[in-house]
This record gives sequence, C-alpha cells and structure tokens, in this order.
Amino acid sequence: MAEPIISVKELIKNYGDFKAVKGISFDVYEGEIFGLLGPNGAGKSTTLEIMETLKAKTSGKVMIDGFDLDKSPGEIKKRIGVQLQTSGFYPGLNLKELIDMFAGLYNQDTNAAELLQKVNLADKAKSKAKELSGGQRQRFSIATTLINKPRIIFLDEPTTGLDPQARRNLWDLIRDIRSSGTTIIITTHYMDEAEQLCDRIAIMDEGKIITLDSPDKMIDDLVATGFERPKQVKHANLEDVFIHLTGKEIRES
Ligand code: ADP
Ligand code: MG
Repeated sequence: MAEPIISVKELIKNYGDFKAVKGISFDVYEGEIFGLLGPNGAGKSTTLEIMETLKAKTSGKVMIDGFDLDKSPGEIKKRIGVQLQTSGFYPGLNLKELIDMFAGLYNQDTNAAELLQKVNLADKAKSKAKELSGGQRQRFSIATTLINKPRIIFLDEPTTGLDPQARRNLWDLIRDIRSSGTTIIITTHYMDEAEQLCDRIAIMDEGKIITLDSPDKMIDDLVATGFERPKQVKHANLEDVFIHLTGKEIRES
C-alpha cells in the first residue's frame, strides 16, 4: 500500500498520574474514512486533539502528511481541518461573516457562499449559529473544517444527538467530502454509522486499540469464532419504520 497520510506510533498521553492513551499505533491512508470507536473515556478525543496539535502528547511519534508533529506543527496545521467553536465566541456574526472571519485568520481566499452551498446552508448565510437546528449546526461546523482546503479533516462525534434524517444527511456530506479526495478521521458511538461510513475502524478501550480493521472483516472474524446473533426474524428494524414513515428529507427550516 502507499505511504500512510497519518502514522501514529506508540502514542502515550498521561494527565498527571492518569494514563489516558497507553501506547497506541495506527496508520491512516489517503482518501480513507477512518473511524475511532470506543466507550466514553477510551481516549478518542485525546488522540484526535493530539493529532490536531491542540494537545501535547506525553510520548510517541505522530507523522501527518509527511510532517513530524514535534518538528513541524505549523505545517500540519495548514494541512488539517479542525471543527471550530462558533456559537460561543462570536454570537453577533452570521454564518457568512463567521466563514469570512475564519478565512481571514487562515489567510485563505474562501468563497463563503460556495462553501455554505456545499453543506446545504446557502439559505442560512445571514443566520446566526444559535438559530440553526442541530443538524444544520453540525453541517456548519463541518464547513468550518474545510475553510483552509485541508488534506485531512477530524470530526469528533459529528452526529451525536441528531435525528435519523439529519444523521443520514451528514453521512452524505461526509462521503461527498471524501470523494473530493479529503481524508477523514471520525469518532462515533453509532455502530451502524461506522459500518456504513468507515473504510476501516480502530476500536479503543481504556487507552488502547483493541482491534483495527475494516468493519466487514471484523464482522467476518466474529462470525468465524462461531458467534451467532439471536435469530433475526424481522426484515426491518424500528429505524427502518421511522425513516419509512417520516421520509429522508431533512426538516429543520
Ligand atoms: P473519549 O473521547 O474516548 O470519551 P477522552 O479522550 O475525552 O475520551 O478522555 C480519555 C480519558 O482522559 C477520560 O478518562 C477523561 O476523563 C480523561 N481526560 C480527558 N481530558 C482530561 C484532562 N484535561 N485532564 C485530566 N483527565 C482528562
Ligand atoms: Mg470524546
């Protein structure tokens, strides 16, 4: 396979005496949607924030797009997209003004209208972040990751708390971003989402990666151990009923 776009080796993060990340190693390849899964407290956000240069590691080696996190954090920052907090800091600005402001900070010539169009928020350009629905806010947050035309974006639980329509809508957006060549690292608690969206996933627990593979391979491996699900007699589930009855269109305007 090609050189990985992200390579993490023996990454350790201690908060005082507490060992949050206990020597994890993984590679991410260009154009992948790579999922980090695991129960609360597993160390997913800590791992992401270290890769995003927002948190210092205790030890280990992190290479991103050919740059060493220890030597060239500035080069890494230029190549990655991080979700920005927009609602709290600048409540007076509308979506277009927020994008223009961040574009200025990044020294980027960004077409705000085009970017809002890409995340299906063109008609909300004059709205404030606090006036958006949960799904719209997440789409806006994803738009902010794209301002500096990054090679890699990091999404930490982007679909948590969203209704099924908004969640599906966000999957489409994420797939769309990937199809334009951007590598995506995402955390989620939704297994159906990871199964549908991610090319490969790492499952973390208590600061360690306990398995890393494609969702398909993980399922096949489990089945090969003789595991069998309790008999499935129904050909649909409650989420299918919900989507069937209420449709796939987003309802948030
Ligand atoms: P996850 O995102 O998988 O839920 P986190 O990376 O947020 O996990 O947290 C991993 C562990 O590290 C948790 O036990 C959490 O309480 C602890 N932790 C996170 N941030 C800090 C911090 N700034 N100081 C001390 N402990 C922290
Ligand atoms: Mg987290």
